Amino acid sequence: MEHISQRVQSLAQSATLAMSQKSAELKAQGADMINLSIGEPDFNTPEHIKEAAKRAIDENYTYYSPVPGFMPLRRAISQKLKTENGVDYAPEQIVVSGGAKQSLCNVILSCINPGDEVIIPVPAWVSYVEMVKLAEGKSVLVPAAIDQDFKITPEQLRAAITERTRMLLLCSPSNPTGSVYSKAELQALVDVLKDYPQIIVMADEIYEHINFTGSFTSMASFPEIADRTVLINGVSKAYAMTGWRIGFCAAPLWLAKATNKLQGQYTSGASSIAQKAAEAAYTGSQQCVEDMRQAFERRRDLIVDLASKVPGWKVNKPQGAFYLFPDVSHYIGKTLRGKKIENDGDFAMYLLENAHVATVAGSAFCMPGYIRLSYATSDENIRKAFDRIQKALAD
Ligand code: PMP
Ligand code: GLU
Repeated sequence: MEHISQRVQSLAQSATLAMSQKSAELKAQGADMINLSIGEPDFNTPEHIKEAAKRAIDENYTYYSPVPGFMPLRRAISQKLKTENGVDYAPEQIVVSGGAKQSLCNVILSCINPGDEVIIPVPAWVSYVEMVKLAEGKSVLVPAAIDQDFKITPEQLRAAITERTRMLLLCSPSNPTGSVYSKAELQALVDVLKDYPQIIVMADEIYEHINFTGSFTSMASFPEIADRTVLINGVSKAYAMTGWRIGFCAAPLWLAKATNKLQGQYTSGASSIAQKAAEAAYTGSQQCVEDMRQAFERRRDLIVDLASKVPGWKVNKPQGAFYLFPDVSHYIGKTLRGKKIENDGDFAMYLLENAHVATVAGSAFCMPGYIRLSYATSDENIRKAFDRIQKALAD
C-alpha cells in the first residue's frame, strides 16, 4: 500500500524541472524542441575548473569531507565575499552544501517554526514557497508585477510585516524576472527592516555575476542588518557548474552552526571532488565569468527585441540573470487553433505543443498571466524559438 507523508503530498512538483523533463521526452520522441524552460547556463564548465577536479581525484580527495566543507574552500568563499562584496563572514560562518538549493532549505528548516511567516516578493523562484511549506511555515506573498518592474516597494514590505514575521527572502538579480534592486532600492527596504530586529534577511545572490547594470550591492553590506543577514550563493550560475552541486550560505555563527547540525544528519559534506573544483572557481581567473556575462547580455538584448514584437506580449528589460518574464495575459480567454486558453499553464502548453518551445507558466512563480523564458541558450535557438512562437500565435 502506498503511504506518502502529508509533508510530501503537500509539495508541488518543481515546475522548472518538470517542464524541462517534458521537453526532453518530446525530443526523445523525435520532436525538434527548443528548451527555454530550465535556467542553466549552456556553457561547459571552464577547463581550469575541470582540471582541478581531475587533480582532486588523483590526489585522493575521495573521503568524506567535513560537514560544512573543506576549510580552503570556506576560506576562498570568505575572501570572495570580502573582496567582491565588501562583507565580512569568517570561514566558520560559511556552510557549503549540495547546491544553493540545499543551502536555502537548510536555512529555512533551521529558522522557521510552524506558523512562522516568511515574506516572499513574487514572482519568486518555484522552490521558495515549497521549502517554507516543508518547514510548516507560512509564506506571505508580496506581489510586484511588470508595472513596478517586479520589485516590491518599502511600503509593501512594511505592510506585510506582522509579529509572526521571521524572515524576508529576497532574490536579486531575480529568478524569474531578471530584475535587479539598485543600492538605493535596497537601502529603502533596509530602512524598514531596521525597525524589526526579529526578521532574518535571506538574500539569494546566486545570479550576482549575471548582472548588466555594472554594479552589484550585496544585502549583507548594509550595517543596519548585517548581523542578521544570510547570503545564499554558489557556483552553478556564475561558473556554469549546475551539475557539480555546490552552493553555500554565509550566516551569523549561530545559524551556520544550526545548518551544519542539520546537514550532518541529513546529507553530510558536499561532494569532495566538486568542492575542490569550486575552490578553483573562486581562486582562479574570473575572466570566464565575465565572458559568459557578456554573452548573456547580448542574448538579453536579442530576446527583448524579439519578444517585444510578439503581438499582445508586454515585456520589460531585465537587468540580470537569464530570464524574461513577459505578461501574456492578452491571450487568456482566447481560442488558438481551436484550443481555449484558460490560463498561463494552457498558454505554455500551447507553445510547447504548437511551437515546440518549452517555457514555464508564471503561476509556478506565484504570478499568473505570465510565462518565463530562459535565454541561457544560443542566439540561433532564441531566433528560431521566436519565429515559431510568432507563427503559432498568428492563426
Ligand atoms: N536560487 C535561485 C533563484 C535559482 O534560480 C537556483 C537555480 N536552480 C538556485 C537558487 C539553486 O541553485 P543550485 O544549482 O546551486 O542549487
Ligand atoms: N534555477 C533553475 C530554474 O529556475 C534550475 C531548475 C531548478 O532548480 O528549479 O530553472
